[in-house]
Amino acid sequence: MSNELAQDGATIRHWSACPDCLSDLRDSEPQSGKCPFCGAPVELIWWQRYLFGTIAFALTIATPLLVGIRSVVWIGIVSLMVGYPVFAITFFVLLKVLPPKYEHRLDSLTLLPG
Ligand SMILES: [Zn+2]
Repeated sequence: MSNELAQDGATIRHWSACPDCLSDLRDSEPQSGKCPFCGAPVELIWWQRYLFGTIAFALTIATPLLVGIRSVVWIGIVSLMVGYPVFAITFFVLLKVLPPKYEHRLDSLTLLPG
């Protein structure tokens, strides 16, 4: 754990902190969506998922256009073929530029009835 205390005793929350234990997850990427320190289910914060996903989707569509393909059918086929690598590379690069911020994984929350 790498929690730090401010001079007034309050815990400093890092940008990439675990939402449960506040450990800094910058250098220890959560494996299978769990915090390596406390095991809490975590995921990228919603706006990073949507922002990175939108950029990756745009690059997936732009890739066939950049190599000169103009047919709508072929743009769709090539986009499907390059989709996964483009998404992986885009997320890798964007997470280096903008460090990940984590929140609780929504499907792990238990809603009480009534
Ligand atoms: Zn944690």
